[in-house]
Amino acid sequence: MSTGAVRWLEPLQRSVPGLGTGVLARIARFDDALTGLLAAFPVDHGLAPETRSLHLRQVRQRLAADSLLSLAVPARHGGHGYPAGIQALLQFACGYHDVNLRDSTGLGHGQLIADHATPQARDRWLPAILAGAVPGIAITESQGGTRVHATTTHAVAAGDGTWRVTGVKTWISRLTEAAVFCLFFTSPSGQLTAAVLDASSAGLSRQLITPAGLSGWAWGELRLDQVTIRPCDILGQPGDGMRLLRGHFAAYRPLVAATALGAAAAVHDHAAAVLACRRHDGTIPRVRDSALITLGRTWAQVNAALLGAVTAHQLAATGHPDAETWGCGVKAHAADIAYQAASELALLEGAAGFTASSLAVKVRADLNALLYADGIHDSLYRSAGRNLITSATPALPGTATAPIPQPRDSPDQALAST
Ligand SMILES: Cc1cc2nc3c(=O)[nH]c(=O)nc-3n(C[C@H](O)[C@H](O)[C@H](O)COP(=O)(O)OP(=O)(O)OC[C@H]3O[C@@H](n4cnc5c(N)ncnc54)[C@H](O)[C@@H]3O)c2cc1C
Repeated sequence: MSTGAVRWLEPLQRSVPGLGTGVLARIARFDDALTGLLAAFPVDHGLAPETRSLHLRQVRQRLAADSLLSLAVPARHGGHGYPAGIQALLQFACGYHDVNLRDSTGLGHGQLIADHATPQARDRWLPAILAGAVPGIAITESQGGTRVHATTTHAVAAGDGTWRVTGVKTWISRLTEAAVFCLFFTSPSGQLTAAVLDASSAGLSRQLITPAGLSGWAWGELRLDQVTIRPCDILGQPGDGMRLLRGHFAAYRPLVAATALGAAAAVHDHAAAVLACRRHDGTIPRVRDSALITLGRTWAQVNAALLGAVTAHQLAATGHPDAETWGCGVKAHAADIAYQAASELALLEGAAGFTASSLAVKVRADLNALLYADGIHDSLYRSAGRNLITSATPALPGTATAPIPQPRDSPDQALAST
């Protein structure tokens, strides 16, 4: 019988396209590999930040060397081509071990490079990312991640066909580990634009900030002082920034959701094991109904949200018009559910679940970070609500009023917070 993350995934075989016995066995191999790698390269909370950061990169590189990083990367991008939903399940397995492992598999933010880079930039970066290099993303600024339209990082034309970009990005994860960033800024004509940014470019400096969770990766400010962007670095076309951002996060947010749910599943298994041990050794005569209800309810919530995350990721992969709405809603819901479940399950352990070294404390801190990262939740629910009201038919059931077309791209809706 399977254990750990794979035990949660087995029952999904009938509902996740492509999750046959062979693919499940490969996910189990991936999961085993993670167990082995974490023994060799621990990322425990007590280790020095630099050690954890180094080990997280080593895990990604080793998985790449074992052909396990790109299982669900499309074959056209150099991967094994498993169906899109499988990437969500791999993320779940990562989260089950440690939320920081969210960058251990797949292209991550490098998906923007795979999909939208010029051939020159793609050839430069895609093989490196598939070999384990870490891609980061730099969008948020001090005026707020929910106000991407107000981006102040700005390019000026240098006269030789290149641009010089200046500005400050904040709350940037993978700050020192990323080999490459997908950078969002305004073009000389003021349009939101994205470009590939070599992390070793002249004119970049960094200011570390200590996070309260997800602290395996360096985090903080990325400062740009006249950094050169060449035409071949532009993702898509100048002015495509908002379109790329929305499309990318429609696919990326479900993966964050699945990672968060994997972490909650680990806390669930731990809490259930603690209760079973206490009953077995006679510390408690029987497990109270209140504890059983919490176990049952959180188990159902995690499973339901995981199916939602898989569906959302598949919708994004197939370009479904509702993919963005699903991505926003599912990420916010899943991270909320995961955080609440981990908090409630921790109480079942008593004070042992409150020690600084306990799994529940560590997971809750990491999940807390995911309530902000990749889209703060009030903003995501608001975006989903706005899409839903826009697509709603302004007629009550039984009446014949034709739908009034509504613009989907109002400036306010375009605040695709990161
Ligand atoms: C661990 C972590 C990792 C991250 N990694 C990255 C990264 O790699 N790259 C990156 O670009 N960003 C990253 N971020 C930033 C993240 O995307 C942002 O935190 C998020 O988008 C929210 O933006 P903000 O924090 O600036 O909050 P704000 O945009 O300032 O919003 C804060 C609150 O104010 C509300 N608000 C906004 N406007 C109004 C208004 N007019 N009236 C009332 N309320 C308002 C919002 O709805 C929200 O509730 C990361 C964040 C964290 C915590």
